[in-house]
Amino acid sequence: MPFEVLQNALESRAAKGLMRHHRVVKGSQGTRVEVDGKPVLSFSSNDYLGLACHPYVLAALQEGARDYGVGAGASHLISGHFSVHQQLEQALAAFTGKPAAILFSSGYLANLGAVQALVGRNDRIFADRLNHASLNDAMLLSRARIHRYRHNDIAHLEQLLRQPHSGRRLVITDAVFSMDGDLAPLPELLVLCDQYDAWLLVDDAHGFGILGKEGRGSLFHSCDLVKKTSAASLEDYPVAPVDRQASRLFSPRIIYMATLGKAAGVAGAFIAAEKIVIDTLIQNARSYIYTTASPPALSSALLTSIRLVQKDHWRRIHLRKLIEQLRAGLEKLPWKLLYSDTPIQPLLVGNSDSAVALSDSLYRRGIWVPAIRPPTVPQGTARLRISLSAAHSEQDVAQFISVLHELAS
Ligand SMILES: *Cc1c(COP(=O)(O)O)cnc(C)c1O
Repeated sequence: MPFEVLQNALESRAAKGLMRHHRVVKGSQGTRVEVDGKPVLSFSSNDYLGLACHPYVLAALQEGARDYGVGAGASHLISGHFSVHQQLEQALAAFTGKPAAILFSSGYLANLGAVQALVGRNDRIFADRLNHASLNDAMLLSRARIHRYRHNDIAHLEQLLRQPHSGRRLVITDAVFSMDGDLAPLPELLVLCDQYDAWLLVDDAHGFGILGKEGRGSLFHSCDLVKKTSAASLEDYPVAPVDRQASRLFSPRIIYMATLGKAAGVAGAFIAAEKIVIDTLIQNARSYIYTTASPPALSSALLTSIRLVQKDHWRRIHLRKLIEQLRAGLEKLPWKLLYSDTPIQPLLVGNSDSAVALSDSLYRRGIWVPAIRPPTVPQGTARLRISLSAAHSEQDVAQFISVLHELAS
């Protein structure tokens, strides 16, 4: 049996310091968690707003389970599409300023489905080199011809787009890059897409809930288009409509994807776009058609968490303060903090062994920050990926800063 081949591959991975391991979390999640029996202060979760344990979200999940049961029982197109899924899709479309939306069970599946449904063998994809792995896998599955442009390099993208081509064109980018925390130049990308008649797929896994007015995401980041609401309680907090005519960023070319397991604190993902695009996904996206619908109770939880995202400005304001505190506190370290305005704060270490050693030293002092190594990031850029959350306190961040300074001296 070919186990020897597997054994050799694992050993060679281990020898390069690239072995991946689970750490087992016990009990409730949050900024202080018990990991492998040890209490630690965590800077490792994408629960950026601290909503995963919010009592209203928990209550909505329980209510949803009572109303609908746990599993959806079938895929969306057989019998697993419940009224609450439909309600959530409408709320997400309104929240993101798009005419329609479709839910997927995860962000990975949303990207696979969207790319595969929109382009095929005779088409071309243009993708940022630092895009998330799910987008890279989606491109391969689509069988389109792939062109990767240098990170955020508009001139390079244009050079690639300029080649004559008769099929469809799809430009793909993370809106907030998942390992660097920097932003894609969306307005400039849109200008090129207009010029070369391409679609623009924006993966906003890390911007949704965090950036833009009321956390509506990266497309809202540079514009103020939301009409004021005057709702008193969470229940009558409607998803306010947006003035779609007011910004080019509501171009029908943009296909907007965001995940619901990060800032929204639950699970799943959605694509929001023109109705014709959503209709096409319903017909063609294999990762939508051939998988069981996500549990309807998750949609109940999400309807509540999206309202909290929209309403609780204080979470984003507090998060912004923590980002500034961390950046100021880590200025004089031997490791370079990459530029980022988002809760993803990468501390560049360089080689994989040193990054793992630093992560291990922090862990021994009760602080959990994951080391990210190639191939998740480019060779020679292993790093600590520090994730801040609105659930952190200023004392938490101060403690982390002081421990890092101790380790540096
Ligand atoms: C997390 C992430 C995904 C995948 O989303 P899941 O819901 O976790 O499958 C896709 N794209 C980006 C940029 C991500 O960070």
